Amino acid sequence: MSDVTIVGLGPMGSAMAETLLAAGHRVKVWNRTASKAEPLLAKGAGQAATAADGDLLVVSQISYQAMYDSIGDARLDGKVLVNLSSDSPERLRAAARWVAGRGGTLITGGIMVPPPGIGQPGAYTFYSGPKDVLDQHATTLEALSEITYVGEDEGLAMMYYQAQLLIFWSSLTSHMHAMAMLRTAGVSPLEFLPFAQETFTQLGSDDGPMAYAKILAEEFEAETYPGEQNSLRMQAVGLGHVVEALEEAGMETTVPNALKRLFERADAEGRGHEGLGTVIESIRKP
Ligand code: NDP
Repeated sequence: MSDVTIVGLGPMGSAMAETLLAAGHRVKVWNRTASKAEPLLAKGAGQAATAADGDLLVVSQISYQAMYDSIGDARLDGKVLVNLSSDSPERLRAAARWVAGRGGTLITGGIMVPPPGIGQPGAYTFYSGPKDVLDQHATTLEALSEITYVGEDEGLAMMYYQAQLLIFWSSLTSHMHAMAMLRTAGVSPLEFLPFAQETFTQLGSDDGPMAYAKILAEEFEAETYPGEQNSLRMQAVGLGHVVEALEEAGMETTVPNALKRLFERADAEGRGHEGLGTVIESIRKP
């Protein structure tokens, strides 16, 4: 069992500390607002003297700025920081240089579960940075989640994490639009739910005409977007009808309108005869 310090005791950091304690590790905790440590101290955690007190520091804060604010000008010689906070990939790369400049090593991570999922089956974290250092702490970190190592580039873990969040937030916001629109016609969210679930399942499935996550990945890989069966032009017109349906229902249409403009741009650029995947080419060239 190893020694680990958790820096940041929001819902995530607190759940991490609890999980590591339950797995038998010697855990110290530090938080800007010291009182948040109390429930963990009662469960056997130790109070870290500073945010840099420990050889393995697992950081979970609102952003990387919080790490700078917490560590201040402390030296980090020989220490390993595993930062599981959100920020932009460039800020993660800059943080790796900052930590190295103080004598330490930064491992970056994007953890793919909410607090109750930490330490549970199915939990995983995208990690990037020096693999040999990550490997040295794998046993401790595996108490939190499975390790999914994505490469040396410290920004990459966050880019994977953000790729997943983009899918998460945009698809679930569409689900909210769909439920709200149907509600205006008296359809309850729970009546619609099985249909929404069917769509989510089919889009992520491995085969069938609706297996679009896979279809688009394969088309993008080949940079070929066949549109004989369902052209982008047809879909841009259909999406225009969706926007009209939302407007008729008195709903907010900012996001669907932005999507419509994106589709129309691909058509205006002469790719209306191609398939939906041709929108990727518009996304790549803003
Ligand atoms: P928050 O993102 O709200 O972060 C709260 C923590 O950040 C607290 O410990 C807070 O300290 C600290 N903090 C904020 N600003 C500063 C600062 N300037 N200096 C020092 N500490 C600061 O809480 P979560 O626990 O929910 O999330 C932590 C990270 O995990 C985030 O980056 C989030 O994106 C990520 N994440 C969250 C998930 C979730 O479902 N909650 C899921 C996956 C990832 P204080 O108590 O003093 O305010």
